[in-house]
Amino acid sequence: MAIASINPVTGEVLETFVPLTDAELEQKLALAAQTFVTYRQTSFAERSQSMEQAADILETRKVELAKIITLEMGKTLKSAISEVEKCANLCRFYAEQAPIYLADTPALTDASRTLIRYQPLGVILAVMPWNFPFWQVFRFAVPCLMAGNVGLLKHASNVPQCALAIADIFDQAGIPTGAFQSLLIGADRVAVLLADPRIKAATLTGSEPAGQSLAAIAGHHLKKVVLELGGSDPFVVMASADLDLAVNAAVTARVMNNGQTCIAAKRFIVEEAIATQFIAKFVEKFQALKVGDPMLADTDVGPLATPQIWDELDAQVRSTVAAGAKLLVGGDRPQQGGNFYAPTILTDIPLGAPPYQEEFFGPVAAVFRVSDLEEAIALANSTNFGLGASIWTQDQQQIETAIEQIEAGAVFVNGMVKSDPRVPFGGIKRSGFGRELGVEGIREFVNIKTIWIR
Ligand code: NAP
Repeated sequence: MAIASINPVTGEVLETFVPLTDAELEQKLALAAQTFVTYRQTSFAERSQSMEQAADILETRKVELAKIITLEMGKTLKSAISEVEKCANLCRFYAEQAPIYLADTPALTDASRTLIRYQPLGVILAVMPWNFPFWQVFRFAVPCLMAGNVGLLKHASNVPQCALAIADIFDQAGIPTGAFQSLLIGADRVAVLLADPRIKAATLTGSEPAGQSLAAIAGHHLKKVVLELGGSDPFVVMASADLDLAVNAAVTARVMNNGQTCIAAKRFIVEEAIATQFIAKFVEKFQALKVGDPMLADTDVGPLATPQIWDELDAQVRSTVAAGAKLLVGGDRPQQGGNFYAPTILTDIPLGAPPYQEEFFGPVAAVFRVSDLEEAIALANSTNFGLGASIWTQDQQQIETAIEQIEAGAVFVNGMVKSDPRVPFGGIKRSGFGRELGVEGIREFVNIKTIWIR
């Protein structure tokens, strides 16, 4: 894929970028390895100060930065501003918590003194997606840098301006240039890069094929990887749920970020007793959503990021309808030009149709009726994904059962799934492995060294 900024509202090519030459890439890699030698010796106080500085820059420049995000990938400007603010909070969070999370931990053994020390690994490669072009990068970069590692970013080819802006922010914040660099390269250059002995580990957020490819190469070279891949989160609504609360959350959880969120609720599993009511309210709210220019304050849903995503999503909807599902709303292009896809609801989905196994990366909700919690959980667990899940019920027993039995990296009760720096984030099954955020996230890319002193 060419490295270019293309406005998803108009299809206009805003700017194209020449990928790094092999010599330029080598220069950046050498600089990263060289910087690690000194950067690892900086104190937590110095790193924290830079992170606070990065937070200040993000807050001061949030509207300008958000406009870059919206122009390149189409999310609403208001959600892009929230994304930049969330990155600032993350910087402040780890500036404060990293010294605590990575302090020596004493242990009791047969030695006079035993402790666990957390030391940086070196150069970490991050392969990142376009859907949260700032947040995904920051949630890798901030703990990585606070731990004393250095980062190399291979961002998605459709958000190069975001990639460059992020490197510039860390630079301005006083992080040494070689400690965080954006590499403008295509996906085809990742294999060679990862094989280089100067790269110690890698993380990828993106699709399953990309994750498989990265993990296979990393496995060959025996390097650690963290993978954050796709999801088809269940949103289970039981008869005792506060219906209005659940419906409002269902709409947000499906259409936020124009439907292109890994932890978006994608399968709505509703108990039969309230299903008709739920669907009626859900359809009404979907019909009321305003699709249009993401720069405008009253827009709810902007365009999909690329024409390829539009085609793929439309093919999935068509194939589901052809299999016998009912299309209650949407399923088309609401306006000419741009990658707009109408918020869509599918019901009566026959067994084996795409929503049972595939991720729908756009504003398309698949609704299923079930007779009880057992059936709901069986359906929730029937995909290969295991990222997030939410359950809506007032019944304590049902809450306990769902927490225990749903196969996912997170279960939210009467709330929509979201990421939060204070708690780990990640998936199981084909949604990936490893964790970001929280104490678990910052300890993914460190040498957890046991020290035993007689
Ligand atoms: P993608 O095609 O896999 O792209 C993600 C990144 O991987 C891009 O930088 C891409 O580079 C690169 N890439 C693609 N193929 C590669 C390969 N064979 N080897 C190495 N790198 C490769 O993913 P996407 O379609 O843009 O993103 C959407 C997917 O990401 C969805 O499945 C979504 O659920 C998932 N996601 C997961 C999380 C999570 O935390 N679990 C968060 C957000 C998104 P190019 O752009 O140059 O191709």
